[in-house]
Amino acid sequence: MHELSISQGIVESVCDAVPEGQVLVVTVEIGKLSGVVPDAVRFCFDACARGTRVEGARLDIVDVPGRGRCASCDRDLDMDELLTQCPCGNPFLDIVCGRELRIRSVEVN
Ligand SMILES: [Zn+2]
Repeated sequence: MHELSISQGIVESVCDAVPEGQVLVVTVEIGKLSGVVPDAVRFCFDACARGTRVEGARLDIVDVPGRGRCASCDRDLDMDELLTQCPCGNPFLDIVCGRELRIRSVEVN
């Protein structure tokens, strides 16, 4: 259900941003740490787009990898999940990127 409302939000934002024309491609960035499942968004997108100018548009999803920084040892780490522990033992990493959920670009006919 979460992904359904996200897909709806994407379609609405695109319709707001593009006052006219047929939308061909929508590119969104989804961070690995955003908790959003790209396949589920893709699945919901077509249904949400139906009856709007986004109908039939291709949805390109760009995966943004997770990166975190440890404040106690100053190390940069790849993060596959929110609860990643630094090798130094610190479980509270500052997330540098990976929480993205945004529309990168829209292609209009
Ligand atoms: Zn550390």
